[in-house]
Amino acid sequence: MTVTREQVLTGWGRLAPTTARVAAPATADEVVSLLQTTAAGSGQRGLIARGLGRSYNNAAQNDGGLVIMTERLRRITEFSPATGTTTCEAGVSLEQLMSTVLPAGWFVPVSPGTRQVSVGGAIAADVHGKNHHVAGSFARHVRWFDLLLPDGREQRVTPAGDPALFWLTAGAMGLTGIILRAQIQLTKVQTSRVRVDTDRTADIDEAMAILAAADQKCSYTVAWLDCLARGRHLGRAVVTSGDFAAISQGVCSQESRFNAQIMLGLITALAHDIELRDVVRERMIEPRTNAIRKIFERAVERGEVSPERNLDLLVSLFPALMIQQVLIVGELPDAEFSERVINDVILPLATASTNPFNS
Ligand SMILES: Cc1cc2nc3c(=O)[nH]c(=O)nc-3n(C[C@H](O)[C@H](O)[C@H](O)COP(=O)(O)OP(=O)(O)OC[C@H]3O[C@@H](n4cnc5c(N)ncnc54)[C@H](O)[C@@H]3O)c2cc1C
Repeated sequence: MTVTREQVLTGWGRLAPTTARVAAPATADEVVSLLQTTAAGSGQRGLIARGLGRSYNNAAQNDGGLVIMTERLRRITEFSPATGTTTCEAGVSLEQLMSTVLPAGWFVPVSPGTRQVSVGGAIAADVHGKNHHVAGSFARHVRWFDLLLPDGREQRVTPAGDPALFWLTAGAMGLTGIILRAQIQLTKVQTSRVRVDTDRTADIDEAMAILAAADQKCSYTVAWLDCLARGRHLGRAVVTSGDFAAISQGVCSQESRFNAQIMLGLITALAHDIELRDVVRERMIEPRTNAIRKIFERAVERGEVSPERNLDLLVSLFPALMIQQVLIVGELPDAEFSERVINDVILPLATASTNPFNS
């Protein structure tokens, strides 16, 4: 039997504290038993689920009743690097999901201003992120969830199969039942880095104009507005916009640290200085080729690149073409060239259905 104890609870805003009996079941079966013992007519005040308590207000408190903490329902039971779907229990946090799926090239589809939010809480509040203008809210990316209804029945709810209950629960703040587990469609990303632009604006009109323009270009936008400023500066802002960096952007930012003249001098010296060649290989070439190699290895894990493909050959293409440019043009290739090499040469070769190196 799950142990319950009395606890004073508040939301993230620490307002209106109330006392409830809380229980932290470790399995869905324990949640079902708790619901049965708290059934209507037992003189108790029912129950409500609580995730990570990040609601600003007193959403998950239930004064004098029972609160089901989902903190022990934290298992990610399925993750497919090939399709980007994941199935997890309701107490799994978005942070836990991010650290599991990001190394494989996937990201949570919608992330609010904190990643300390449970999947159950994200569905129950149908949270939005800084990518709301392109991705919509969290529930749009939920394929199904298992809902424990107040009468003790467990139902798998899909947006197509039972749209009324699905969209009633998304945003119902726990009032339709307890979400036990859910399947989520993740968003694909090429790298874990984010390319960010920051604009400072003089007033609210400029802030809105820049925000509207940024929404057209970027998936993530947010603005901090100064509502205490007076006169014409009211609403001045810092607008931040960004997107996950493409592979080429990640690689280019590393390359741009080096001056072409230094590279040219180095390449000439390498021809007759074996010691220098070893140092350059170890300190300059290998870290870059290893970074590119890792990207390809993850693509192999996701099933996008065949395991038969010659990764060493693929990986060596980028530095080879960059060095060739330095030798021929005398300049370090710009970001556009690097992007073309990655997007038009290396990625098509890597993902071609037949092995281009064998034909
Ligand atoms: C710093 C900060 C930044 C934030 N930024 C944003 C933002 O950008 N966008 C946004 O939308 N929100 C934002 N929020 C609010 C937060 O995302 C939501 O309040 C979210 O619901 C909190 O999730 P939780 O796991 O902490 O749930 P809790 O606060 O514990 O519960 C929230 C509600 O969900 C219900 N619930 C929890 N788990 C379940 C379950 N398993 N089954 C059924 N119902 C359940 C509870 O009963 C309650 O009504 C922010 C909060 C903070 C503290």
